[in-house]
Amino acid sequence: MLRQDINRIDPKRRNVVDYRKKQFAEPTYKETEYPHRLNFYETPPTADITLEQFEQWAIDRLRVLAELEACSFRNYSPAETAAHMKPLLEKYLPLDSNSSSSTKLSAERQKDHYSHFILRLAFASTEDLRRRFSRVETTLFRLRLAEDTARERNAFIQSLNLDWEPVAEDERNKYFAELSATSGSRKGEEETAWYKVDWERVPDLVEARRVFLRAGKAYVPSKELPSMVTAEFTKRLDRALELTARALPRLDEDDRLTPILDHLSKNFVTPDAGYFSSAVAGAEITARNIDNLSSHFPLCMQHLHRSLRRDAHLKHYGRLQYSLFLKGIGLNLEESLIFWRTSFHKITDDTFNKEYRYQVRYAYGDVGGDSNRRGGGSSPFSCQKILMEHPPGPGEAHGCPYRHFNLENLTSLLQQVGVSDRSVLQGVKEDKENQKFHMACNRVFEYVHKNELKKAKDEGIMTAAELETIVHPNKYFERSYLLKNLGKSNNGDDVKMEGF
Ligand code: SF4
Repeated sequence: MLRQDINRIDPKRRNVVDYRKKQFAEPTYKETEYPHRLNFYETPPTADITLEQFEQWAIDRLRVLAELEACSFRNYSPAETAAHMKPLLEKYLPLDSNSSSSTKLSAERQKDHYSHFILRLAFASTEDLRRRFSRVETTLFRLRLAEDTARERNAFIQSLNLDWEPVAEDERNKYFAELSATSGSRKGEEETAWYKVDWERVPDLVEARRVFLRAGKAYVPSKELPSMVTAEFTKRLDRALELTARALPRLDEDDRLTPILDHLSKNFVTPDAGYFSSAVAGAEITARNIDNLSSHFPLCMQHLHRSLRRDAHLKHYGRLQYSLFLKGIGLNLEESLIFWRTSFHKITDDTFNKEYRYQVRYAYGDVGGDSNRRGGGSSPFSCQKILMEHPPGPGEAHGCPYRHFNLENLTSLLQQVGVSDRSVLQGVKEDKENQKFHMACNRVFEYVHKNELKKAKDEGIMTAAELETIVHPNKYFERSYLLKNLGKSNNGDDVKMEGF
């Protein structure tokens, strides 16, 4: 594969450095070392990575950040957030400690380092994005700091050379009562080290009244060091984001990066509407698992999947509808390419690369030139779009079976996927006659998940809003998957749509 270096800028556009200065300049590119698990991201990365790594690493970090933000919307406690994030972090952004036996420490830390800086570029453009990015990055840093072993945490903090002034013993004695009151320590207990810092640097400690304040300084006990370090992290990141925002116009020099960054930031602007809308935590969304997952797909996508398996091919609109749906459930570009390549098993690599690879990448906004199209135009199709636009012609498998199939074929398809209850089929027939295609789809969903839905309602596990009428294929998948996992403890006797 052709390696494309992110640092390689068109020579015509390069700044020309005065040769007299150049001869004394430090070498710019040097291998970064990562002695610590944690990083304050003070030094930008300089080594070459491929464009694929550039985007994939950023997407992986974005998944983590989007989920962290979702945890905060759900009001999770730090412990709940840590438990929820553990598998996601292990999957997308692992970061092992020095004491682990991992042989990938350097690679993990490099990915963490680079992905932070890529997203910093993507999210520096507006005040709102900067604020959100800073908040979730701080949450991530705090989470990791809390997980660090005491030894590695202390070594990392020492390495930061922070200008915190230790409180001398006579001053400590002078304010002993005030210091003890804030730290909760009593006389005779082990001596605590104290540091003096400007109070603005530890706002959360001040807010929680966990520090003694005097003459604009906060007296912070050593046990609060993690809070201090985190506050320092945020302060530096905020400052760095401001600087990045000012430098952004110069990035236009490299027109390969701008569309990628634009795409990334759009996905962060609308975390509920795009890429990540129906990625279900815990679900294995990979090419080889699509067959298993397809039992949770709505009928339109089940039909596309069955057609693909039968013919080892789908026509243009079918590929578009299905690949955007799969993107929406969380299948990343790399896995999507594997999925489509292995599904089109009757053709050669050459034909696939020439005729189909581009469209898959296009659906992910990976190619195409028009940055306005990326993210927005390639969102998964809603039911309304599928029902109203591009009705399928002969040999095409896209569209909505409830609308575009005749009753006989629709009934046959429903029976093939395991829905043969007469009253349900009769209800679907009436819905179809009344042109209530959504209702038919929701009717089938309710039948297929009747036991789990009962449990969810009886036990108040899902709110009325979470159980409202489905109007998006990706929502169908998400709810089906969640309900199925809910139903695991339900004796497993629910009706299931058949897999393939
Ligand atoms: Fe798919 Fe929507 Fe039709 Fe259901 S109603 S089959 S989700 S297009």
